[in-house]
Amino acid sequence: MGRPEYRSGVPEDWFVDPVRLGVPGVRGVADDDNQLAWQTDALCAQTDPEAFFPEKGGSTRDAKRICTGCEVRAECLEYALANDERFGIWGGLSERERRKLRRQAG
Ligand code: SF4
Repeated sequence: MGRPEYRSGVPEDWFVDPVRLGVPGVRGVADDDNQLAWQTDALCAQTDPEAFFPEKGGSTRDAKRICTGCEVRAECLEYALANDERFGIWGGLSERERRKLRRQAG
């Protein structure tokens, strides 16, 4: 990688790793390993996050409409199912719809 190896003198709480420093050619690999990497393309990040976490009984229509045009919808839904996200709209589905999907799949 063109950088010296970590040495034994590095303090244990030293957490800055080469990936964070942006070593060229490393970031792509790291993004694949990061299960939230898809969020960089999340359309909802550019909109009102409150629409995705409405109060009980609130409308989810606006959020779902945004999800329809989101490039990472599949990754988002997959993440929510894998991590048992209970609240909010993920991948265009409400928590109730995700529960239903999980029941059908399981
Ligand atoms: S699918 Fe919806 S909730 Fe998921 S990242 Fe895209 S816009 Fe956000």
